[in-house]
Amino acid sequence: MELLDGTSVAKRIREEAATAARVFSPPPRLVVLLLGSDPASETYVAAKRRAAQDAGIRADTVRLAPGSPPEALLAAVGRANDDPDVDGLLVQMPLEPGHHASRVIDSIDPEKDVDGLHPENVGLLHQGRPRFVPCTPAGILALLDDFGVPIAGSRAVVLGRSGLVGKPLAALLTSRDATVTLCHSRTRDLAAVCREADLLVAAIGRPGFVTGDFVREGATVVDVGVNRLTSLEDAPLNLQGSGRIREAIATKGRALVGDVDFDDVSRVAARITPVPGGVGPLTVAMLLANTVRAARVRRDRGERAR
Ligand code: NAP
Repeated sequence: MELLDGTSVAKRIREEAATAARVFSPPPRLVVLLLGSDPASETYVAAKRRAAQDAGIRADTVRLAPGSPPEALLAAVGRANDDPDVDGLLVQMPLEPGHHASRVIDSIDPEKDVDGLHPENVGLLHQGRPRFVPCTPAGILALLDDFGVPIAGSRAVVLGRSGLVGKPLAALLTSRDATVTLCHSRTRDLAAVCREADLLVAAIGRPGFVTGDFVREGATVVDVGVNRLTSLEDAPLNLQGSGRIREAIATKGRALVGDVDFDDVSRVAARITPVPGGVGPLTVAMLLANTVRAARVRRDRGERAR
């Protein structure tokens, strides 16, 4: 079994982004809008800002107090849209109740939309002429390519149909000539459908859901899920025997686990991503690549207009 370690691939992409960022004066600038104080969002935003700064990208977090009304968030998006010194803009999800993600996403300038979620960018992706590819699916493809995992002609099953991961990944794999099945909570005979896959990607947010009986012998398994367990009782039965999870909870009070039962699936799969250290680092790296791309697109246009 080969471990698809995302950290070294992510490091290379971050270095490439840093090299590309050095060409710009002033350096590319990313604005992250953070509404509220969700601890997981705080962690993600801090990681994005640190990575951007390490790559020589200016990164600002604009915070909105918990309970801020939708108009305040839309106004903050509008200010970043209108600021000629901002190249890339993202709004950290999930939003608090009372906010509508689609309304917020629609309001982002599509040329600054480094998460690739604006309908214009989604449309371009599905037409096979992407401008900004959402960071996690882009990272998954970079990882597969780096490890030489064949995509064209393969049978791919994507588990989860979110706009952030599953749907754009299915579009990307289709454009790379995989035969793709997109599964969700209403899919019948889910394990049997997944067993058809040469490439199985799990993005559902259910700890340890994918067990060995979902996986064809010799398949490649990509685990996108990030689930935080703070006690063994929170873990599904199949994960409760895992030494790594027991130790993490005992020593750190929490364990990060994927949607895949790593110990069980690694007995069957030929290749598998770990959690943490698989897809996660690539998501951040791709955000840097998209921010540099945003700077290039916008500033080239500015040059031409002059
Ligand atoms: P999401 O928006 O919550 O969507 C979950 C999807 O999984 C939905 O399509 C849902 O089906 C499907 N699903 C849920 N339970 C299922 C079940 N029992 N059987 C079959 N399908 C099921 O999730 P997301 O934003 O894509 O995130 C998925 C996971 O990836 C989460 O753990 C998240 O934290 C993680 N994530 C990680 C990264 C990273 O960088 N590593 C980035 C993004 C997300 P329906 O559509 O039918 O409801």
